[in-house]
Amino acid sequence: MKRRKFIYQSSLIAVSAISGLSMRSGPQIMTVNGPVDSEKIGVTLSHEHILVDFIGAAQYNPVRWDRKDVVEAILPYLIEIKQLGCKSLFEFTPEFLGRDPLLLKDLSRLSGLNIITNTGYYGAVDNKYLPQSAFSASAQELSEVWVHEFKQGIKGTGIRPGFIKISVNPESLSDLHRKLVEAAAITHLHTGLTITSHTGPSRPAFEQLDMLQKLGVHGSAFVWVHAQNEKDKTAYFNAIQRGAWISLDGVEESNLDEYIEILQLMKERGFLDQILISQDAGWYEPGKPWNGPVRDYTVIFKQLIPKLKVSGFNQQDIKQLFENNPQKAFSIKVRNL
Ligand SMILES: [Zn+2]
Repeated sequence: MKRRKFIYQSSLIAVSAISGLSMRSGPQIMTVNGPVDSEKIGVTLSHEHILVDFIGAAQYNPVRWDRKDVVEAILPYLIEIKQLGCKSLFEFTPEFLGRDPLLLKDLSRLSGLNIITNTGYYGAVDNKYLPQSAFSASAQELSEVWVHEFKQGIKGTGIRPGFIKISVNPESLSDLHRKLVEAAAITHLHTGLTITSHTGPSRPAFEQLDMLQKLGVHGSAFVWVHAQNEKDKTAYFNAIQRGAWISLDGVEESNLDEYIEILQLMKERGFLDQILISQDAGWYEPGKPWNGPVRDYTVIFKQLIPKLKVSGFNQQDIKQLFENNPQKAFSIKVRNL
């Protein structure tokens, strides 16, 4: 026990030393403008997209978009949610799919929203978005790239990621995807960044939780992304008991009743404090004519929240879902076993 405690404390010191986060201040979240006190991030969308390019890692090239065009296209939609009371937005587009920290910094300044970006690689869709290096590198080597982004900023921009985003196929984990999970675990233990993983069904979710446990990472450092794709909702209970965050991130106009039903079940079980709700909406797509986003970011504010209020959810429940939970889930802290 003593040794574990020592490791835990020294890892906290290491994190605060490398991140410039103060040990004395409370928990913090890393935005594209630097660290912010977690309690100040306010109403949050915990999984959205501003720019996505599906061309694949082989042909990936940021010259495919003009940052000015993207700002012009997306800014009105961000201002719209700011006016609806949103304060922070987690941008879930990973590297090789259109992650552009300088774009996010411009949009944060112009919209007044906190925007948070990520580090990590995306393995789903049969590795189409993985760089060549991901196939040959070890988990340790991959984690060095990601830890470096957290310590030094992304590609010379000085902008630092606020979470780890990986992704796996919706089946039993391949060796390659196990390597991504291991790299994420190592990165978490060095940075305190939360691990989010595009996952879907429960089988790969539990395989990841098992792996993290073996690697010494507590379940509370893990966000099960796209958990709504698991039809057996009782699978959430087990993951929650292991500490994991359940991200139900596909809210749209057509499925509000389904989300409300799941949330009612979670509330009855007393599990509302480990649920993240978002829309996976947006986005600007290079090479496509711009006619507005496929989905804007307003359904939660204009439709879901009003519907929750007439379905037995009080103000505290709503604050829990859209403020307290994202604050806690994404606060930078090593959560080891
Ligand atoms: Zn997404």
